[in-house]
Amino acid sequence: MKKHNFNAGPSILPRIAIENTAKAVLDLNGIGLSLLEISHRSKEFQAILDETMELFKKLLNIPAGYQVIFLGGGASMQFCMVPYNFLNNKAAYVETGVWAEKAIKEAKYFGEVNIIASSKDKNFTYIPKGYTIPTDVDYLHITTNNTIYGSELRFDMNCPVPLVADMSSDILSRPVDVSKYSLIYGGAQKNLGPAGVTFVIIKEDIVKNVTRKIPSMLNYATHLKDPSLYNTPPVFAIYGCLETLRWINGLGGVKTVEAMNIKKANLLYDTIDTSKMFVGTVEKDSRSIMNICFVMNEKYKTKEDAFMEFAKSKGMLGIKGHRSVGGFRASTYNALPIESVQALVDTMNEFEKNNL
Ligand SMILES: *Cc1c(COP(=O)(O)O)cnc(C)c1O
Repeated sequence: MKKHNFNAGPSILPRIAIENTAKAVLDLNGIGLSLLEISHRSKEFQAILDETMELFKKLLNIPAGYQVIFLGGGASMQFCMVPYNFLNNKAAYVETGVWAEKAIKEAKYFGEVNIIASSKDKNFTYIPKGYTIPTDVDYLHITTNNTIYGSELRFDMNCPVPLVADMSSDILSRPVDVSKYSLIYGGAQKNLGPAGVTFVIIKEDIVKNVTRKIPSMLNYATHLKDPSLYNTPPVFAIYGCLETLRWINGLGGVKTVEAMNIKKANLLYDTIDTSKMFVGTVEKDSRSIMNICFVMNEKYKTKEDAFMEFAKSKGMLGIKGHRSVGGFRASTYNALPIESVQALVDTMNEFEKNNL
């Protein structure tokens, strides 16, 4: 039976990217060696790295004055690197979920943290609006897509202080005006490639000295001097990203992918909104097009386990909601075909018809 992969991360990648990566693992471009056996300083790997950085810049329309670097440590390492490098006195954070809370926790090791807006009062089911950004902070940190709760900020806000964004789970899902940000980071394993690599888009002039001393590996300046090659980078994961970027480029770029994502999300949200059984958990104007969360309403709550079993029997994988939300979560990342969303919708409709 066909499987439909709604995993939240690591998650679905384009089939062609996986096949080409598998080929490169066996024999890279016919050189008789595996991608895994060559020096990260070889001309072959340099070409891979250059193309990955160039495509990333092209697809996101990254302006001059910014660098793209690929590091280890996951998005979680950036939770600490950002304040280590930029938090002199005080930073502002918007608290929109568990990942934002983790970023806040790390920042507190380095200085004062001002939580200027939060949606914790309603279990993170909305994106806060209408708050004032203080001008006496070193930066503002936001999480654009809240992977666990399914809320998303889908525009690039104006910010009077340097804006830092965790885009782990919505990078490359829509065009981004990078010029509004000083730093954008994320783990690759949601929408970009295999686990093990973290992308950082960084405005070069933001790397000014904080007063503290920073160990070399955690200092952005180190990585800007020798982009992605200060130490051995995660070569396999970078190659997987390159193949995904080539796939997006071949489709026509991020605008095309965004249109596909909106179509997929609308199909599922429309089904949820017209259902007598399922109900969305996030306020409509804060809904994510990457992670779609829903539960069964009060009347049918006891049928959630039965639906989960039924969905499994239809080949749906990874739709169990995170334990802090319950119910269901369908992650509809770039590589998920609309056929899979249609299959899920059909499954929901069939279950509803049989159980109302
Ligand atoms: C998954 C995720 C993280 C954590 O990423 P790691 O690479 O595992 O550290 C951070 N932020 C968001 C928004 C995520 O979705």
